[in-house]
Amino acid sequence: MKFLRPTLLTLACLLASPGFADDLPSLGDASSSIVSPQQEYQLGRAWLGMLRAQVSQLSDPQLKDFVETTVYRLAETSQVQNPRLEFILINSRELNAFAAPGGIVGVNGGLFLNAQNEAEYAAVLAHELAHLSQRHFARGVEAQQRMQVPVLAAMLAGIVMAAAGAGDAGIATIAGTQAAAIQEQTRFSRQNEQEADRIGMINLGKAGYDPRAMPNMFERLMRQYRFDAKPPEFLLDHPVTESRIADTRNRAEQEKKGGKEDSVQYQLMRARVALYYEESSGLAAKRFRALLEDNPRSEYARYGLAIAQIKASQLNDARETLKPLIAKDPNNITYNLAQVEIDVANNKYADAQQRLDRMKVQFPDNYPLNQARVDLLIKQNKPVEAEQGLDQLLKSRPSDPDIWSLVADVRGLSGNMIGSNQARAEYFALTGDYRQAQQQLDIAKRRANNNFQLASRIDARQKDFAEQERLLKEMMN
Ligand SMILES: [Zn+2]
Repeated sequence: MKFLRPTLLTLACLLASPGFADDLPSLGDASSSIVSPQQEYQLGRAWLGMLRAQVSQLSDPQLKDFVETTVYRLAETSQVQNPRLEFILINSRELNAFAAPGGIVGVNGGLFLNAQNEAEYAAVLAHELAHLSQRHFARGVEAQQRMQVPVLAAMLAGIVMAAAGAGDAGIATIAGTQAAAIQEQTRFSRQNEQEADRIGMINLGKAGYDPRAMPNMFERLMRQYRFDAKPPEFLLDHPVTESRIADTRNRAEQEKKGGKEDSVQYQLMRARVALYYEESSGLAAKRFRALLEDNPRSEYARYGLAIAQIKASQLNDARETLKPLIAKDPNNITYNLAQVEIDVANNKYADAQQRLDRMKVQFPDNYPLNQARVDLLIKQNKPVEAEQGLDQLLKSRPSDPDIWSLVADVRGLSGNMIGSNQARAEYFALTGDYRQAQQQLDIAKRRANNNFQLASRIDARQKDFAEQERLLKEMMN
């Protein structure tokens, strides 16, 4: 198999040495003797698959790229050790974000809607990363009762349950209410919250942001949701009180000033998210236009108006709206991708391709640009070239189910049926459906019956999946 995902490599290593937990270097804290970081990692990946199967996601390459880039940058200056992060962007306008054991980072669309600038957005994520780096999850287990992996599994279930929206019957059954209740008491204890605030804020400053963004964010959330009968999940877990605001305010004053507050790019991503949650593109255009009239220099309003017009198929208007932005910042990827969208919608494929080729010279490894190139190749009915482009993308995104799903489609179009089944299998495994993953590989194996090498590779992959599933079941029981 050409594209082994890191997850599977890890699992393969673990399987090769039974009793692996003993071979791992000790982190020096008592908690690692109970739930090892490797076990956290595996369980985290497993729960991510289940979460992916349960919730609607924002499969927007630009948003995904933004979240991944900003969180990795934060992780660099955080105390998170050896961050191997996986991300999920949840299609919900409710404010929430979480970082779960195993390096799973979840961000709701609602975080963009609520955080007014990039520093506020980063403040929430820095706080979440601090829960992860301080291993509040594992420590909580130890404090409560000396239980092992099953409790962590249940804790993850609790986090996932919250992320998927409370009351999700499927996940709730798996979770078990008792263990989920333990999780409520431990991760969000006042002490842990204080520690996450403190360490998150230090990290915020180190990453170059203005630490005052944290009290600012808390303050605005408190004002906004003060009289809400049902505040967002994030505030249930993280009650914002006057004293917490005062605490973080004091601490922020002691930190170095003059950090970054905002970026144009963050505002552009906010506009994208806002558009997802507008009732109609017409209504969105109206709202962005009103904002632009109030503040003619706002990139947020102008870009928002342009993409709302694209969505409403008002392509000429969209081009005119976008023009001043491209004139001002000709190499901006987001603006250029909007122009590409307009060209594609106008069937001007050559123009779109020229623009993408020019951008690719400057940003050869940019995910959204490369994704747009693949999309254009598919539109131009060039599945073989599209498949090559996707093979490149897989190298940097080997555990992205969005990519695997598209790979399966494109290989089908180019007549690579076995490859299509294999890609579909990877997609199903990443979204927690091992049964369908095995079925896809059964089909692939039948199709490959006169190619011994290929058939045995598929066979090996089936065994990987079976082992993965067995291991997870074992850990969760
Ligand atoms: Zn917290």
